[in-house]
Amino acid sequence: MPRIRYWSLQGQQLRNPNSYTKKALRGFFSGRKIICHNGLMLLAIPAIFFAYGLLFGSFLNAWIWRIHTDRKISKGRSICPHCKSQLKWYELIPVLSWLVLRGKCRTCHKPISIQYPLVELATGILWVGLYSFINPTSGLEWGELVVWLIVGTLMMAAFVYDAKWMLLPDHFTVPAIVAALIWVGIRWMVYGQGGLVLQQLIAALVFAGMFYALWRLSGGGWLGDGDIRLAFLMGLMLTPNQLVIAIFVSFNLGALVSLWLLATKRKTRRDPIAFGPFLIIGLLTGYFGADALIVAYLHILSI
Ligand SMILES: [Zn+2]
Repeated sequence: MPRIRYWSLQGQQLRNPNSYTKKALRGFFSGRKIICHNGLMLLAIPAIFFAYGLLFGSFLNAWIWRIHTDRKISKGRSICPHCKSQLKWYELIPVLSWLVLRGKCRTCHKPISIQYPLVELATGILWVGLYSFINPTSGLEWGELVVWLIVGTLMMAAFVYDAKWMLLPDHFTVPAIVAALIWVGIRWMVYGQGGLVLQQLIAALVFAGMFYALWRLSGGGWLGDGDIRLAFLMGLMLTPNQLVIAIFVSFNLGALVSLWLLATKRKTRRDPIAFGPFLIIGLLTGYFGADALIVAYLHILSI
């Protein structure tokens, strides 16, 4: 659970940032010494996380495209997919370039998908969201932040790829699982969280096993094998409580969206629907929202 940050001023503990600003200004003008632990840093650090998220989002767009077209990420600079003209540095600024160019290529004026700024923005929000939610102060919390940044960013790419091309490439799921397993190992060995780690490993195997059974039963019709790896990852990244919420959200959302697609005749009963994006929404909802949802649910029950 995130904690409330305290603003400290001459030994006083303040909960309210506005009162911090007022006291800081008064202190400045009266010439008194102000002890400022994290005054400006309160805004500066989230802003840095947001900026890095935007940059990584921009990198993800290029990576997604290059995996799809089977080119190496290191090869060459970014090009327009329509006219193949090389993009200048000012065409590669996250979100801003797209807005300034009004979603069109500078050379051929063909439209550039809104996917590009959306992925950048979503990754920026994910990064600042993870930082603010975890609000790291200890080594354990910093470790959790780093692992979630890696896994969350990879899942952003997986979300887009699966939504567009109905495929969860191992490029995204396998590095995420490796990062999750390393983190599970560190928590077990260094932080003595063996009990929780064991629960998570069992949950991951059971959840992935369930998906494996569905995959075998349907002959790959209901799910892809990438979904099995994604299910395993979810078990590793979430506590059992969070996993229950994640499963509930992804299955219900998947069912609702499928019904809507059928009802509006955008898809027929025979068309496959990518399940990965729903699992990833479930993963994030479980992590960010499970505690709040469980508290709200218990509150409703008690009335
Ligand atoms: Zn172009």
